[in-house]
Amino acid sequence: MSISENLIKIKSELPAAVKLIAVSKTKPESDIMEAYNAGHKFFGENKVQELVDKYEHLPKDIDWHFIGHLQTNKVKYIASFVHLIHGVDSLKLLKEINKQGAKNNRVIKCLLQFHIANEKAKFGFYKDEVFELLAGEDFKSLKFVQIVGVMGMATYTDDENQIRKEFASLKNYFLEIKKRFLTEPYFSEISMGMSADYKLAIEEGSTMVRLGSSIFGIRFYSKF
Ligand SMILES: *Cc1c(COP(=O)(O)O)cnc(C)c1O
Repeated sequence: MSISENLIKIKSELPAAVKLIAVSKTKPESDIMEAYNAGHKFFGENKVQELVDKYEHLPKDIDWHFIGHLQTNKVKYIASFVHLIHGVDSLKLLKEINKQGAKNNRVIKCLLQFHIANEKAKFGFYKDEVFELLAGEDFKSLKFVQIVGVMGMATYTDDENQIRKEFASLKNYFLEIKKRFLTEPYFSEISMGMSADYKLAIEEGSTMVRLGSSIFGIRFYSKF
């Protein structure tokens, strides 16, 4: 099936409340344009330079999501246009995003990335770190970032119960933060689910799925 056929089929099967981020990392701009011409406007990238190049060349009404691990010294390259940063995993990074937001006079939307997987290599906060951060004075002074939700990646495994458990834990973190710290309506997103596990993620409460290979086909390098 073509990119546009994949996209239309997947969209027709997603619940209306679940947003689809088409993960276009490593894929050429022509692939993105095929999805764009089929009506899709939300794309995700995980490398700063690649994102900047694509932003510069492609239509300006695209919402660009940064889904990778963001290095502090690279925030400045995407701060003027990025729609949502999914992988915020330190106070240091949040402060830098705030600083660059101030420079560009825009509030930058972010998700707090939680470590929910069994695997060591994945980035993200542990629960206690986030609660400490949200309770702190440093956080309250950040006027140019808005935390609109949480993000996480499940373990890469065939064990559905394991995956479900991890997604459910992310949903619980979200609910607890919403109750105790970020009670405003804008705190509303749970970004979880990739091509292999998005159906489980939706059943466990995802509001945003990040799909790459199921739309664009396999990539010719490893997942991260
Ligand atoms: C690559 C990537 C995806 C998409 O992965 P697929 O398995 O191709 O759907 C989603 N989220 C993140 C953070 C990624 O790096």
